[in-house]
Order: sequence, then structure tokens, then C-alpha cells
Amino acid sequence: MPAVQNYDVVVIGAGGAGFAAAVEAKSKGANVVLIEKMPTVGGNSLISGAEMNVPNSWVQNKLNIKDDTPARMAADTLKGGDFKGDPEIVGVMTVNALPTAEWLRDTVGVNFEKDNVFQFGGHSRKRALIPEGHTGTEVITKFSALADKMGIPVITNMKAEELVKDKDGRVVAVKAVSGDKEYTFNAKGGVVLATGGFGANAQMVKKYNPNIDERFKTTDAPGTTGEALYMAEKAGGQLVNMGYIQTYPICDPISGVIELIADARFDGAILVNQEGKRFVEELERRDVISNAILKQPGAYCYVLWNDNIGKISNTVKIHDTEYQAFTKQGIMHTSDTLKGAADFFHIPYANLKATVDRVNQMAKDGGKDLDFHNRGGLKDMSTGKYYIIKAVPSTHHTMGGLKINTKAEVLDKNGKPIPGLFAAGEVTGTTHGTNRLGGNAYTDIMVFGRIAGDGAAAEAKAR
Ligand code: ADP
Repeated sequence: MPAVQNYDVVVIGAGGAGFAAAVEAKSKGANVVLIEKMPTVGGNSLISGAEMNVPNSWVQNKLNIKDDTPARMAADTLKGGDFKGDPEIVGVMTVNALPTAEWLRDTVGVNFEKDNVFQFGGHSRKRALIPEGHTGTEVITKFSALADKMGIPVITNMKAEELVKDKDGRVVAVKAVSGDKEYTFNAKGGVVLATGGFGANAQMVKKYNPNIDERFKTTDAPGTTGEALYMAEKAGGQLVNMGYIQTYPICDPISGVIELIADARFDGAILVNQEGKRFVEELERRDVISNAILKQPGAYCYVLWNDNIGKISNTVKIHDTEYQAFTKQGIMHTSDTLKGAADFFHIPYANLKATVDRVNQMAKDGGKDLDFHNRGGLKDMSTGKYYIIKAVPSTHHTMGGLKINTKAEVLDKNGKPIPGLFAAGEVTGTTHGTNRLGGNAYTDIMVFGRIAGDGAAAEAKAR
């Protein structure tokens, strides 16, 4: 591979935002390269559940959810982030959610479940599209195939280390290393930073938020280490909201990985503590649930559901690999009886029975949760099988990052765009405020990935 290479657009980071940017730029006629520091592509976007919030989607229509709007989703998003997200950015994200999802479906070829949507915590409607298999594998596989077909070189094991500016302050190239070799990727139109967050960099997490210390493991892909934020800061980029770091409440106490199998929570599974008592609304925001769990005895909780709830999204079957692994680890148990579930984890059965009896009573009375106001409503749990899994919070998403404008241009410390530098995805810090709502990362990375790719391609044409 030549040490110096010339492109119109250089995209750094082959996760969802990077692929969206690269494909979009290429489709606008730009000569694009996508570089990735890890041996494989996908980043957090691959291991994520990859659900994507889309108001007015074809699935909502089919399910007769007719009263959702971008404005409603924007209101939920801003509120969910304590009004620290940028309303203009959130507006662009929510208005473009539907056309972007249609693009993923029709151009990229992503298969979404046809008759199921999730209602993540903090959302007032069921609006998250679910990719087939309930993980990012469906999305990243389709993107990889499309990039290949379109002739976009995707270069792995290639780590961007420096953004090069010309004498006018325009970003014109990226210096990168692969093994002990150095490469320069010239970018006529622009560079798109799509390097993700820093959740897997424990030191950096603690530096910006000392509350999230050594006690926390991470759900994140190993490449989520955030050096690119410093690289961009060196080139003049403004970092904002860096202390807003989200822990995901429901993770494996041993490895820290997310328990996607426990997504049954979005269909009615309840959270109980070691005493067998509920303690928080199951569809609360992630930060609220995480903090509530940390206050319980042992700083962990259990997610409990039965077949009546499980049959809705069938997470046990869909996440069979997790099911086998968690069961083998001894953090998950399946039982025909509630007593069996309680006994396995030494939860006082009388307490758990009282909790579940009360849930059943409220389910019978229409599902209204008089205790914790579960906004999805409570479901009957009177019959088995029962599924129970132990869970702890783990570092998940870094809301802070580069300040961008609605064109995905990176802003400097005076709020002025840095010519030739775009950013999209978790590397940016403007969308989510203090707390990202579930299903909003995919909407954010796809909408702004495309905007960044489009902007950089347009710059290349103009020069
Ligand atoms: P997003 O959801 O914002 O797309 P992801 O975590 O899915 O973020 O993807 C970011 C990708 O960027 C990861 O695959 C990560 O390994 C890669 N990456 C991070 N830093 C660099 C870097 N300096 N050079 C190249 N790739 C990087």
C-alpha cells in the first residue's frame, strides 16, 4: 500500500456512523476511503442491540401507533437528557429519522422486524425499529457488503493519529499508522471523524466523571478508547459535555457486557432486588435505574419475566448464545416455578411471591402500575416458565464529545466550523445531553453519518 494516498473524503472509524458517511459520500460521487484501527469493523454499532427510534415508521403504522411525530420524539429526547442536548441537532435527528430508516431498509438492505417495535426507557411511544437478530450484526454486515460493492476501500488495522491542516487552517489530510508503518491519507473535500466514544477507556471515564470509577466494567467494544477526541481537540475542535457518561443498568456482573436477553424488560419484565422487592420503574431512564440499582443490597438486581412476557419479543430464543453462556455462568436461571427462581438466587420466596402476586393483581386490573408507574403497563406473571438474571450497571455510552452544528461540521472553541472537518456518532457531544435514551444512538449515528458524508462530498466537488 502506498504511503501517501489521495481521496476526496477520508472517513475515520468503521462503525455505523463511519459506514453511513462513507456510503453516502460515495453515492454522491466522491472517492472515499474508510479506515479502522481494529482488525475488524463494526465498533459498538456491531455489538449494540441496534434498535433505532423512528417516529411514523411503517412498523408503527402497521401496529396502529398513529400519533407519534418527530416533535414528540424530540421532546422525549430533550427531556431525557435534562435539556442539555442541542434542540437544533435533536430536531434534525428526529425529522430525518424516517427517511434515514427507509434508506437503511431500501438502499443498504437492512431487514427490520415487521411487526414489533420497542419502547425504550424515557420514550412516550413504542418507536424503536428492531433489526433482524436484535443486534448490529444485521446492519454492519449489510454495510460491509454494500461498501464492497460500491468499491469503497475499508482498511482495518489502520489507526488515525493526526489531522493535518494547511496554512489556511483547513483539514486536508490524516496521518495514520499500521504496525510500524506510517501513512498519509490526503482528503480533498474533508475528513469525517466517526471514531465512537471512550467508554472502554476506564482512565478517561474516571478523569471526566470521578463517580464512575474502578467498580464499573464496560459494555463497549475494545476500540472505544477515545484518543481521537484528543486528536480532534489538537486540531482545534471543541469538546463539550465530557462528564456525561451513561452506565447501562442491565449488564453481566462478571464481564460487564450488556444482557440483551433481558430486553424482555421492554415487554414487561420486572426488576427486583435481593429481598425480592421492586424498587424502580423498569422503563425509567438508564441513569435513574443504574443509580437505583447501586442503592440496593449488594448493588445489583435481578430481571424477572415469564413466558407470557417472553413470547412478545422472544429474547431467550433470539439471544440463544447469551442464554447458554449466562446460564452456564450461573447468573441466569430458568424454572417452571417462581419458587425455583427464588431459591436459585436465595431470594426470600415469600417476598418474591408477594411482589409477583401484586403485579398479577395490577395486570388483572388493566395493567396500571400503582407502585412504580411502569409506563408500558404490567403483565400477568402467574404462570411459568420463569426467567431470572442477575444484573449490574456498566459503563456504556459517553454523551460528550465534539461540538458539531446541524451540518455535522466540527466547531472550534469560538463556535466556528473548522474547514474540512466533519464528525458524526458517539464521537460528537451535542445530541443527547446528560443521558442518551435507548434507541437514539442508531438514529443519531445514521442521520449525522449521512449528513457528514454528504457535506464532505460536496466540499470535494466544490474544490
Ligand atoms: P458510532 O456508533 O459512533 O459509529 P462505533 O463505536 O460503532 O461508533 O464505531 C467507531 C469505530 O471507530 C470503532 O470501530 C473504533 O475501533 C474506530 N476507531 C476509534 N478510534 C480510531 C482511530 N483513531 N483510527 C481509526 N479507527 C478508530
